[in-house]
Amino acid sequence: MYTYRVPYELNEFIRVGQRVVVPFGKSKLVTAIVRQVHENVPTYSTKYLDFILDEFPIVTEKQLTLWEWMSSYYMAHIGDVMAAALPGSFKLASETKVLLNENRPIDTQKLDDTEVLIIDALDLRGVLDLNEIGQIIDKKTVYPIIKRLIDKGFVVVEEEIKEVFKPKTEKYLSLHSGYTTEQHIEQLFNELSSSPKKQDVLTLFLHKSNWFNLPESVKKTDITSEMNCSLSVLQSLIEKGILVEELVEVGRLRPGEYILEEAKSLADFQQKALQEVEENLKVKDVCLLHGITGSGKTEIYVELIKKTIASGRKVLYLLPEIALTTQIINRLRKYFGAKIGVYHSRFSPNERVEIWNDVLHPRFNKYDIILGARSAIFLPYSDLGLIIVDEEHETSFKQHDPSPRYNARDSAYVLAKMFNAKLVLGSATPAIETMFSAEQKNIGYVWLNQRYGGLLLPEIQCADLKEANKRKKMHGIFSEFLLDEMRQSLANGEQIILFQNRRGYSPRWVCNDCNAHPECTRCDVSLTYHKYQHLLTCHYCGYTTKPPNTCTVCGSSDLRMVGLGTERIEEEVSLHLGEHIRVQRMDLDTTRSKYAYQHIIDDFEQRKIDILVGTQMVTKGLDFDNVSLVGVLNADDLLYYPDFRAFERAFQLLLQVSGRAGRKNKRGKVILQTYDPNHWIIQKVMYNDYAGMYRQELYERQNYHYPPYFRIIRITIRHKEEAYTDKASDLLANALKEKLGNRVLGPEYPPVKRVNNYYLKNITLKFEKEASSAKVKAYLRSCLDELAQHPQFKSCKIKLDIDPN
Ligand code: ADP
Ligand code: ZN
Ligand code: ZN
Repeated sequence: MYTYRVPYELNEFIRVGQRVVVPFGKSKLVTAIVRQVHENVPTYSTKYLDFILDEFPIVTEKQLTLWEWMSSYYMAHIGDVMAAALPGSFKLASETKVLLNENRPIDTQKLDDTEVLIIDALDLRGVLDLNEIGQIIDKKTVYPIIKRLIDKGFVVVEEEIKEVFKPKTEKYLSLHSGYTTEQHIEQLFNELSSSPKKQDVLTLFLHKSNWFNLPESVKKTDITSEMNCSLSVLQSLIEKGILVEELVEVGRLRPGEYILEEAKSLADFQQKALQEVEENLKVKDVCLLHGITGSGKTEIYVELIKKTIASGRKVLYLLPEIALTTQIINRLRKYFGAKIGVYHSRFSPNERVEIWNDVLHPRFNKYDIILGARSAIFLPYSDLGLIIVDEEHETSFKQHDPSPRYNARDSAYVLAKMFNAKLVLGSATPAIETMFSAEQKNIGYVWLNQRYGGLLLPEIQCADLKEANKRKKMHGIFSEFLLDEMRQSLANGEQIILFQNRRGYSPRWVCNDCNAHPECTRCDVSLTYHKYQHLLTCHYCGYTTKPPNTCTVCGSSDLRMVGLGTERIEEEVSLHLGEHIRVQRMDLDTTRSKYAYQHIIDDFEQRKIDILVGTQMVTKGLDFDNVSLVGVLNADDLLYYPDFRAFERAFQLLLQVSGRAGRKNKRGKVILQTYDPNHWIIQKVMYNDYAGMYRQELYERQNYHYPPYFRIIRITIRHKEEAYTDKASDLLANALKEKLGNRVLGPEYPPVKRVNNYYLKNITLKFEKEASSAKVKAYLRSCLDELAQHPQFKSCKIKLDIDPN
C-alpha cells in the first residue's frame, strides 16, 4: 500500500477501485488500484499520481475486503493478492510487453492517429514494452491509449499469451447473407438450372439449416455425409459465394445452439437430500453434501441453483480442475444455456476481462452462474446467493505457488459471508477437516448413499504384485489378472481407464553396477525419463538433458529404467494388447494447451479411444458411460509419501478413480495392483468405508497433533548458500521457540532439499485450534521482521504457507 497525491484537477474524478497510473521507483510507471482517498498528509513527501485509467471503478469494495482478509489470513502482501485477482491486461506497467492481437478487428478506421501509429509500430517490431511505446508517442499518454487498444481488441499483453495451440475447429456453412427472401432463393434455383446436382445440394442445405423458418448454419460434414454427388459440387457453391464456409471453435458453442432441457426430476432419495440441505441452510451458513459417486449431487446442485436464480441472486460454482469444467458445463448448459459464464486461468486475457466486466456491470444481467476454477472467487460479484464447491476435498483448491497461498474453498466461505450467501460443499470423500466440522455441527451435513438408478458401486479387487511376481504372472507392468480383465472389456467393446500418478516414461534411470542415477544439476532429485522426446527432465525445475549412454559415475553401460510413468504404460498397452488398441494419455504433458483436455475427453466420450491412461487428472469427477474397468497400476505409490495427509489423499484418490467404473446396466470393476493388499487404507478402499477411514485418521491426527485438532503454518527458508539457509532457519526457529516452545518443529530439510539451486529448510508451527491464530501470526511476523534486520540474511527468501495441504 502506498500513498500518492491526487492532482487538483483529478480530485473530483477519483474513486476507490479505479486504476491509476503512478510513478514507482526512479523511472517506472505502474498501474495501481485506489484503496482509499483521504486527507491525512504523511510526514514524508509523496509523489503525484499521473492519471486515472478508468472512468468507473473496476474493483468493488467487497473485493477489496476479500483481498484484505486473504492478505492477513495467508500472510501475503496485498500486492500479491491483487496480482492474483486481476486479469493480466488490467495490470499495465513500464515493462509490460504488448503485441498485436491475432484476432484483432480488420477495420482500423475508428482508430485515431496515435493508435494507428502504435499498431504500425507493433506490426513492424512484433513486441514492444510500454516504455518503448512511450518513446514512440508522448510518454504521458501511453497507458490510456494501450488500455483503449486492449478494450477494442487490437492488442494483448504478452505475459498471458501462452497458447501456442490452435483450438479445435469445425467447418460450418451458411447461405450468403445477400439471400434474404424466398424470391432470392427462387432466382438462385433458376440460375442453377443447368446443374441439378447443385440444386440438390442446395436443397439439402436449405433443409438442414431450417432456412425457411429459423435459419442456422450447418456443420459441413452434415451436408457431405448426405450428399449423393462429389464434393466438388459443394465446393463450387462455396467458390461462387452462394454458401459461406466458416471455421467455428468447437466448445465455444454459439448461444443459438443451446438446446434447453427441463431439469431431471429428482429420485425420492435425492428429493429428500435436497430438502435436508435446504433445512440445514435455514439455520447454518454451510452444508456438506456427502454423496457417493453417481448419487446425483450435480442434479441436486441444479435444483439449488434454480431456486437461487429464481430469487434473483447469482451463483458461483467452483470446480477443482479445469479438466472438469468441460463436462459440467455441457450438463449445466442444458438447463441454463448462455446464462453460465466460465472463468479460469487458461482463458485468454481478453476473455477474462470480458467476463470480469460482465460480472461487474450486472445491469447487463448476462450471467446467472459463474463456473470456474479457484481464481473465479476473485470476480467482482455484486449479489451472490449461493456458492457451490464441488469436490471440496481436492488439493487443487489450494494455490501452492506463488503467494497468496490461498485455499479457494476456505476463501469461498469468507466470500459467502460477505454476501450473506449460502455455501454448499460437495464430495464423495470429504476432507477430514470438513467432515469434522460437520460432526461438530459447525456446518450442516447431508448423506447420500445410493447411486441413481440403483447402480451398484464398482467391485474393487486387488492384484497382489508380490504373488504375481513369485508365480511369474507379471507381463511387463501388468499382472495377468489385470491383463485378462482388460482383454475381456475390450472384447465387449467397453472402455478402460488406467491410473498412475506419475508422468513421463520412467522416474529413474539406474546404473546396474554402482546404483547411481542421474540427478538434476539444480535440485536434489532424480530425473524422469521421457521416452517420446528421449530426454531426462526434472519435475521440480524443468531442467532437461539428454540421457547418458554410460553411467556418469562408473562408466558402466549397463543402465536400467526403474519405476513407471504414464508414458510407459501407454507403450506397454500396445506391447501386450496389440497396436490396434487406441490408447491416449492424459497428464500434464498432453494437456498443456487450453483445449487439450476437452479434445481428449470428447474423443473418449465418442469412443475414439479404448484406453485412457492418466495421472490424477483422470480421477476427478468425470462421468463416462462406457467404462467398465479401472486399473490402478501401483496403488502403493500413493501410500508412502511423507505427508500427514498421505493416507487420506490415497483413499480419496483411489475411491475417486474407482468411481469412474460402471455402466448404465453393468457393475464396474476396479483392479488395484499393490504389494500390500492388507494395508488398512487399501482395505478401506475395497470396502468403500469412508467412515472407517475417517475414524482411524482422526485418531492419528489427534495423537500426532495435526488438523483438524491443530493448525499448521509451514515456513520455508531458502538461499543459494547452504550455510545461510542453515543459520537463518536456526535463528528464526530459536526466536519462535522462545514464545511458542514445542509448537515449533524443525528446522529440517524437506524431502527434496535443493530446488533450482536454492537450499531449503522447513520450520513447522503446530498450534491448538483454540489458540488465537492471529496472535501466532503476529508473533511470527515480528520474528520475521527481526530476522530481516540482520543484513546477512537479507537475501534469504521466506515462504509462508498457512494451512498447507
Ligand atoms: P455425482 O456428482 O454425485 O457423482 P452425478 O450428478 O454425476 O453424480 O450423477 C450420476 C449420473 O446419474 C449422471 O449421469 C446423471 O445424469 C444421472 N442422474 C442422477 N440423478 C438423476 C435423476 N434424478 N434423473 C436422471 N438421471 C440422473
Ligand atoms: Zn555406475
Ligand atoms: Zn531440477
